[in-house]
Amino acid sequence: MARLMPPSDAPPPPLEPVAGWGRHPIVPGRVERPEHLALPPGFEPLVARGLGRAYGDAAVPARPGGRVVESTRADRIRSFDPATGRLHCEAGLSLAEILRVFVPRGWFPPVTPGTRFVTVGACVACDVHGKNHHRDGSFGNFVERITLLTADGRLVQCGPARERELFLATVGGMGLTGLIVEVVLHLRRIETPWIVLETQGMASLEVLLEGLRLSAAHWPYTVGWIDCLARGRHVGRGILMRGRHATAAEAGAHRARRPSRLRVPFDAPEWLLNPLFMRWFNGVYAWTHGRTLRRRVVSYDRFFYPLDAIADWNRLYGPRGFLQYQCVVPRGAGSRPVLALLERLAAAGAASFLAVIKDCGPGSDAYLSFPLEGTTLALDLPYRGAPTESLLHDLNGIVIEHGGRVYLAKDAITRPDDFARMMPRLREWQAVRDRWDPARRFRSGLSVRLLGDPA
Ligand SMILES: Cc1cc2nc3c(=O)[nH]c(=O)nc-3n(C[C@H](O)[C@H](O)[C@H](O)COP(=O)(O)OP(=O)(O)OC[C@H]3O[C@@H](n4cnc5c(N)ncnc54)[C@H](O)[C@@H]3O)c2cc1C
Repeated sequence: MARLMPPSDAPPPPLEPVAGWGRHPIVPGRVERPEHLALPPGFEPLVARGLGRAYGDAAVPARPGGRVVESTRADRIRSFDPATGRLHCEAGLSLAEILRVFVPRGWFPPVTPGTRFVTVGACVACDVHGKNHHRDGSFGNFVERITLLTADGRLVQCGPARERELFLATVGGMGLTGLIVEVVLHLRRIETPWIVLETQGMASLEVLLEGLRLSAAHWPYTVGWIDCLARGRHVGRGILMRGRHATAAEAGAHRARRPSRLRVPFDAPEWLLNPLFMRWFNGVYAWTHGRTLRRRVVSYDRFFYPLDAIADWNRLYGPRGFLQYQCVVPRGAGSRPVLALLERLAAAGAASFLAVIKDCGPGSDAYLSFPLEGTTLALDLPYRGAPTESLLHDLNGIVIEHGGRVYLAKDAITRPDDFARMMPRLREWQAVRDRWDPARRFRSGLSVRLLGDPA
């Protein structure tokens, strides 16, 4: 059986600040960036990391000075089968690179999050979902095989039909079962890089949810944007967006524009985030879209990755960083939990630039996978210490009451008992982790906070 170990006499890398995309918390760590993913010498605990786009503490060391193994240099394409779309690659390959290489050849990632700057390994570890969850489910559904470097240095092949339990614990397992070294996944055929997009203003949450539900039957990609500062009869008003890959005839004479990239060159001042400014911003955004249905053809990057057009936009939230909160509540609960969440936010005067709503299809068998059939809501909140944390604990209370859960790729504050109440299959996952990593070689800020791992 193959083993991967680097030479044991290499000096440890210097300390550097390590944080998720929300920039809270920040922990100094020793980051390895190997050409080939390997375990550090000895038995030092480590956390795997890709491009650092998880928001909270999932890819942050378990303690100051802890080891981080970053995959970004281990990003080779091993093979591609143009007949089937089967891609065999190293875990550090990014979706940005997959898009660059494969879109011109007529292929697209089967599931993509709202940024392309993510690695394939992390898409597996977080079992990411996209605007097509209602139709296709999450990333793990398209994975045929994973090569996993386990705590004892073995390279283990796992997939839906071999080492199935390890596979189900690794998909959505937040890097805590081993280092994902390689992935075999299936890309999706597309005719053009263009998206047929329809947008429509929706006057209330009920109308928006109904719009999402009705669109799901005919549109592969659906999502809603909510003006979460609207009050009274406007609560939950927003914009419904739905899209599909355009055919050659629909794309017509559209030509690709060079995407512009702005940069946020400084940590934005906190006044930019005050509730009055945000109310104005949200109101203008909501009403410039009006209520009439608009249809147009847009580039795939404008549809899927609008935030990627502004580099370092996370610095807009100022030096204290921000938290992203994403939860999902089961469909049976209707609009009540979402209304309760929005009302709690409004009562706190909490400002959010961005509140995204989406309906999810059935969840997968992976033990810790986030999506379940129902409604998911995601929002950004500037981090203001204890008041922000207490607000999010309240939101967690509403989510638990309705049988929902939060998304670990965006979490930095959930308490262990709340997490246990959210995840019905946590024990099964723990049993697999006990078998493959009894000494907890793979640890992160998140696993210390949520799972009781030693720091
Ligand atoms: C603007 C924006 C929009 C987003 N939209 C969505 C969305 O729509 N849907 C969604 O699901 N997510 C979304 N996310 C979250 C993001 O897709 C995930 O967190 C993604 O996994 C981050 O990839 P990364 O390479 O940056 O991983 P990191 O942030 O570096 O790591 C994420 C997790 O993966 C683990 N990991 C990384 N590499 C490996 C490896 N080789 N082996 C084992 N474990 C590994 C880490 O330990 C960590 O637990 C969004 C994030 C941003 C910033």
